[in-house]
Amino acid sequence: MAAHADLVRSQGKTLVFVPTMGFLHEGHISLMEIGLAHGNHLVVSIFVNPAQFGPTEDLDAYPRDMERDLALCKKAGAAAVYTPDASSMYGPGFETRVIQESLPNHLCGLSRPRLFSGVTTVVTKLFNTVKPHVAVFGEKDFQQLAVLKRMTLDLDFDIKIVSGPTVREQDGLAKSSRNSYLSATQRKNATALYQCLEETGKKVAKGQLDTQGLLQEAKEKIAAVPEAAIDYINIVDPNSLVDVARVEKPALMAMAVFVGKTRLIDNMMLYPPG
Ligand code: AMP
Repeated sequence: MAAHADLVRSQGKTLVFVPTMGFLHEGHISLMEIGLAHGNHLVVSIFVNPAQFGPTEDLDAYPRDMERDLALCKKAGAAAVYTPDASSMYGPGFETRVIQESLPNHLCGLSRPRLFSGVTTVVTKLFNTVKPHVAVFGEKDFQQLAVLKRMTLDLDFDIKIVSGPTVREQDGLAKSSRNSYLSATQRKNATALYQCLEETGKKVAKGQLDTQGLLQEAKEKIAAVPEAAIDYINIVDPNSLVDVARVEKPALMAMAVFVGKTRLIDNMMLYPPG
């Protein structure tokens, strides 16, 4: 991969990179399309990164379909797909992790303590091997995007970070590889996450700005969904990810909810009137 990147760069091409964990869906494809608007040589990586899963999480169960993924990447215009295996990523004696000070200590980082150091470590390694000019990440994983923008700045990666909006199913559920875990009933019930974000967005647009009341109503709605268990629902400053008391300026509503055993995340910006 590194030799390929050197060759592409020596030809004066602009290398754009979309890292994924595979089991691709329209969300991933949209990032590839956005990538190709920013460069002319698209590289996609497919790597289910063990370093970002906790011991009780779904590393082994994570859905995989390499053949289908490679066909989708080809169709989307990828020039190369990088598919390292875990033993080459993390060889014998590997012991380094990239740790960020504060952005991981909110939202998903609280219940998944190894997630963001696993992400920053693997993305650092991928950046060093794929050597992209541009890298594209989804707003669906808003905290990940914030962490990686910060890391790129702090560690002087000469890489432009571009983001893509969340692609949704017709009924609003954010597309996710993990949606494949849901039963038909759970899948139907899972639309409550998006509905809840939408409803809160409307309330804020009408001038209900106090986050305590908004969150209480949101939590009641989610708690009423069969098989749903709230990990977190917060309204935060989109830069610091710190909770806000009132939505005086645009704020991010973010949530993680278990539907059965499947942990789903979603988020939406809330805009006060005017
Ligand atoms: P994953 O394979 O889930 O690790 O995601 C790889 C990239 O795709 C990340 O940058 C995600 O934020 C992005 N992504 C995942 N789901 C969506 C979606 N529904 N819409 C847009 N981007 C997404």
